[in-house]
Amino acid sequence: MADAPGVNTPAHVVLNLLVIGRGRGQPWVPILAGALIPDLPILVMYAVERGLLGTAETLIWQDRYFASGWQLFIDAFNSLPLIALGWLLAYWHGSRFLQPLFLSMGLHAGADFLVHNEDAHRHFLPITGWRFSSPVSYWDPRHFGQVFLGAEMLLIVLSSGHFIRRGQDRAVRFLGSGILAATALFIAFALVFWRRLGEG
Ligand SMILES: [Zn+2]
Repeated sequence: MADAPGVNTPAHVVLNLLVIGRGRGQPWVPILAGALIPDLPILVMYAVERGLLGTAETLIWQDRYFASGWQLFIDAFNSLPLIALGWLLAYWHGSRFLQPLFLSMGLHAGADFLVHNEDAHRHFLPITGWRFSSPVSYWDPRHFGQVFLGAEMLLIVLSSGHFIRRGQDRAVRFLGSGILAATALFIAFALVFWRRLGEG
């Protein structure tokens, strides 16, 4: 089983807005972009495999995702040295947009580093291909995945609530509402699904 894009991406968004945006969620555009970019190559991979090549769903996640070319493409966007280099260049140029963007990418990759077990990215490319198998997985029940999922949902609900009430501008409040609504739908769907499993 591979990384499931879309499940934990909202958690990256609210966490990065909180930490890098210092609770005010500003500047929200580069922070949002930086929180999304490390997960985008997975969506690109999915779009190419499913949409262009017509690969079967199960084959994508059990086989194609692990192909060395796709792995390199995905891991490049999760590489801490490359992100640090990007931040350094942005710092030298004094770019007010790219500095928080690379910081946000770095926080995303750093958070992923802590909560991926078998599906860990190579976070130190191109220096080394070493993967850290964290004892905690953001999804795998064999590695505290259920506990983590609960904590993640709590983080999303509390911080989107915070942004809805205190977000410095309308876009941040809107973003908070969108993430909260999507998460509520996800939880409702999961509850119905689990109940069905229990009955069946
Ligand atoms: Zn990620």
